[in-house]
Amino acid sequence: MYEHDVIVVGAGGAGLRAAVAADEAGADVALVSKLHPVRSHTGAAEGGINAALQEGDDWELHAYDTMKGSDYLGDAPAVETLAKDAPEDTIRLEHWGMPFSREEDGRVSQRPFGGLSYPRTTYAGAETGHHLLHVMYEQVVKRGIPVYDEWYVMDLATTDEDDPNDRECHGVVAYDVQSGKVEGFKANQGVVLATGGPGQAFDHTTNAVSCTGDGHAMAYRAGAPLEDMEFIQFHPTSLPSTGVLISEGVRGEGGILYNNKGERFMFEYGYANNDGELASRDVVARAELTEVNEGRGVNDEYVHLDMRHLGEERIMDRLENILHLAEDFEGVDGLVEPMPVKPGQHYAMGGIETDENGQTCIDGLYAAGECACVSVHGGNRLGGNALPELIVFGKRAGYHAAGKDLGEPQIKTGYGDDIENETDADLPVEPGASGLDQSGGVAADGGVTADTDGLLERTVEQTREHIDYLIEKDDGVQHAEIRSKLQNAMTDYVNVFRTEEGIKKALKIIRECREEYQDVYVDDPSRTFNTDLQQTIETRNLIDVAETIALGALVRNEFRGAHWRQENQIRDDENWLKHTLISWDDGKPSIFYRPVILEGEDKTYEPKVRSY
Ligand SMILES: Cc1cc2nc3c(=O)[nH]c(=O)nc-3n(C[C@H](O)[C@H](O)[C@H](O)COP(=O)(O)OP(=O)(O)OC[C@H]3O[C@@H](n4cnc5c(N)ncnc54)[C@H](O)[C@@H]3O)c2cc1C
Repeated sequence: MYEHDVIVVGAGGAGLRAAVAADEAGADVALVSKLHPVRSHTGAAEGGINAALQEGDDWELHAYDTMKGSDYLGDAPAVETLAKDAPEDTIRLEHWGMPFSREEDGRVSQRPFGGLSYPRTTYAGAETGHHLLHVMYEQVVKRGIPVYDEWYVMDLATTDEDDPNDRECHGVVAYDVQSGKVEGFKANQGVVLATGGPGQAFDHTTNAVSCTGDGHAMAYRAGAPLEDMEFIQFHPTSLPSTGVLISEGVRGEGGILYNNKGERFMFEYGYANNDGELASRDVVARAELTEVNEGRGVNDEYVHLDMRHLGEERIMDRLENILHLAEDFEGVDGLVEPMPVKPGQHYAMGGIETDENGQTCIDGLYAAGECACVSVHGGNRLGGNALPELIVFGKRAGYHAAGKDLGEPQIKTGYGDDIENETDADLPVEPGASGLDQSGGVAADGGVTADTDGLLERTVEQTREHIDYLIEKDDGVQHAEIRSKLQNAMTDYVNVFRTEEGIKKALKIIRECREEYQDVYVDDPSRTFNTDLQQTIETRNLIDVAETIALGALVRNEFRGAHWRQENQIRDDENWLKHTLISWDDGKPSIFYRPVILEGEDKTYEPKVRSY
């Protein structure tokens, strides 16, 4: 068994920042990650980091843009914290060695991004995330923070009192991918989940194969609610054949979208008469699919993104990476022809419910980064707002887990007086299933026991038995079959345009996947580098996460941000200025709501019509 004050699970931007903060606060902290830190998905971030750095811009404008972009579902205390801390935290990155792009006069460059009223996206070419990971990892190495890389965390060691608010997290259980060994990691002060997004729940996604919602599922099984899971961002410019992202930086620099008639449709058909291509992502994604659905798409599938007019010099200076992506993955030379693009799953606005200090309702359990929902993005994330979230809230979670006083949070978590109880929505199937069988195919209630003595050892034992069972089982269903069925259902029915009928179909298929998973087996008997085993467990996590996305999408019968519902195509502020919370309770998902906080430090953000 390993033992540290703070265990950070995940070594992307959020995890690395949390670990450095915990170290700064004097804790003995360790990182446990299924990938080597610099292979984390943050490395794919191209466009940049939003921070109000220049004269003429200020944090209040950033906060306002973020609240508007969120379609008034962001919690103001979190949004204001993001906007206030982002400048200092971005400058700290610079001091740590981040090679931000610069203007002729030496100042850090900032570019316009969708939904921003000021060009405040700070970038390092089109490889911002790559540099961020390297700079942060250098800090980890410099401080001698231990990194257990290629350790796959399978579960949390959490007590199982009836009320999740009374539960405690004492550590994690992980599987060493290299040796097959299963070990406990005891956390004397706290566990920070920084496991990234759940994009692999969808078939067409800009996310890497490692984005499997593991942290979401572990927290959910332990009883922490998942918040606003229905809000999935579909990025307007992914390459059609692979889902690889073409950064919003292309449109930020002046790239133009055309339909098959060569029309600049964002203006031609009035989707966004002011901001055109630089409207918020949800607006552009719906516009593109409407073009395709109305017969104006190219090859009935995508639209064109043209950057040729920017000229070779500017493209090579600021967007060189994009040229390589278009050439390598689509065979298109962006200097001489337009690039094909279509919406692809990109980001999860929702996640594990936390307060401004990264704390969940379970004592000792924290979450930060894309796996968390604090909530700054509400119904729709603005491009360039995820990276500042990693460094601002990663830092806060690390500090708090290490015992630093950050003040009383304004955001509540878990069950409390402020929640509105269970939904009366008509659910098409009894979601979930009760009990934890040997295949581990379903979420279990809480942890092992309320008794903390030997809790971690018992969780380790349970995990070892689970792995033995999966490997020793001779036949059954392979995870890949279940995973692709799940991904197709999500892309077919819980995509940009959603209908009640479609979501119910998805929920039925998810239920079938859950049942088939009862018979899952691992074909590869090896104990070393057994990717079959790891992906089998990831598929279990994807089932739990996909179900919460579909359930949230079903109950929220309104159109807000990225969540469009055919049956009610208006934003319904009277009934829906509230977060959807789904927790695993008594053998099934339980759905409840918490009002959004629109009161900021000095002002209230009154919901307005969101036009661009
Ligand atoms: C292509 C692309 C481009 C983007 N560009 C931008 C941009 O320009 N600006 C912006 O603001 N946002 C951007 N985003 C969003 C942003 O990059 C991500 O939201 C963010 O990087 C996620 O960081 P993270 O630290 O939460 O997770 P990740 O970087 O995904 O890291 C997750 C970590 O968790 C570990 N992990 C996961 N599960 C386990 C487990 N079971 N056991 C152990 N370890 C585990 C992984 O090994 C990894 O180290 C982009 C997203 C994509 C997909």
